[in-house]
Formats: sequence, structure tokens, C-alpha cells
Amino acid sequence: MSLVIAMDGPSGSGKSSASKGVARALGLRYLDTGAMYRAITWWMLRQGVAVDDAAAVAARAGEPVLESGTDPDAPSIAVDGTDVSAPIRTREVTNAVSAVSAVPEVRARLVALQREIIGTGGIVVEGRDIGTVVAPDAPVKVYLTASEEARAQRRAKDLAADPGASVTVTRTEQARRDRLDSTRTTSPLTRAADATEIDSTELGLDEVIEAVVRLAEERT
Ligand code: C5P
Repeated sequence: MSLVIAMDGPSGSGKSSASKGVARALGLRYLDTGAMYRAITWWMLRQGVAVDDAAAVAARAGEPVLESGTDPDAPSIAVDGTDVSAPIRTREVTNAVSAVSAVPEVRARLVALQREIIGTGGIVVEGRDIGTVVAPDAPVKVYLTASEEARAQRRAKDLAADPGASVTVTRTEQARRDRLDSTRTTSPLTRAADATEIDSTELGLDEVIEAVVRLAEERT
């Protein structure tokens, strides 16, 4: 298997920017698994499925057709042929995604899809359970963290266009999402025993990318 870099960590830790940067630096593909959970959540909301009803979500989990583009310069996500890159970032989806992603049938389906895309490797994969469940044999595993304050600041900046998204609101919603993601029964967010932890609170994006590239060079 050629190189697989697993990038896990809580929301707002800087995983997306770092993962894309590493993929560019090393000429690898890039997969955002969070976008896949968001896309299936967007579809459930559109279909009027009660996202807190795990049985209702499970019953429909096999229906939407997801397509993930893996170019780090133009990552894309489509559901049933519709590009959903923008609508999956709304607060409505963000606040519903943890309930949907906790449903075992949803995870089984998306993990299978993710493994198919990973194929023989050559890819940076970001998520919550990549090093533990999706690609436990990945030669490079990173667990990216940052202080709660730094993560809320970054998220609020991402959502600057949304007037409801103050740092305080973002912080509360983010803490709730991390709590749900870390305490669910199926593949909770947790650091793989063999992952290298990088705390990005005091690091610039370039420094994080450099640290991961160095790690990849050491391992290959
Ligand atoms: O990374 P992002 O914040 O876009 O992820 C959105 C949500 O998708 C997470 O809060 C989590 O509920 C879910 N997720 C997951 N497993 C992954 C990636 C994301 O459960 N590998």
C-alpha cells in the first residue's frame, strides 16, 4: 500500500487546512470524511427525516449517492449529482451532524465508501476515526488538537458570514458536538495509540504542515 496519512482530531483543530496543505506538498490526494457525514446529514434534513431518531436515519442510510472529489486544490462533494459543498457548512447541518454520524448504519456505509476511495493509498484522509477504524494500518497517523479557545476562534472566523455565529455561540455548539462525537458508542473520536499528537494552539499553518511532512518522510 502506498502512503496513507490519517489526520484525526476535534472540530476547529485546523485539520482541513493542514490536510490539504500536506496533500499538496507531497502530491497526494485528499479526502474530507467530515464532508461525507455532513452530506448525508444534509440529505436527511432535506428528506424530512427526524435526525434524532436513529432508527429513522438508519432506515434511509443506504439511499443517497455520495461522490467525493479528492483534488486538494478543488475538493468536492455531491449528493445524487448535486454539488453540496456550500449547504453542508450551514449551522443547521453542523448542529445535526453528530446525531446522524452516531448511527452505526451510517458509519458502516461511509467507512466502506472511504476505504474504497483510499484504495491503494497515496492520500491524506481527515476525520475522527481514520487512524482507529477506517485505516488502522496507515503508516502516518496524526492527532491534531488545539485549545478550546483557539478552536472556537477559528470556527467563528470560518462562519463570519453567519450573523448568529459569535465566538460564544460557536464555542457552546462546538463543545456540544465534540462531546457527542467523543461519547458515541460506535467509533468515538479518540486518539489512536500510535498517533503522533500535534497541538496547533501556538503553531502557524505552515508549521503544522511541515511537522506532518517531516513525519511522513521519516516513515517512508
Ligand atoms: O470535520 P467536520 O467538522 O466537518 O465533521 C463533521 C462531523 O462529522 C463531526 O462533528 C462528526 O460528527 C462527523 N465525523 C465523524 N467521523 C469522521 C469525520 C466526521 O463522525 N471520520
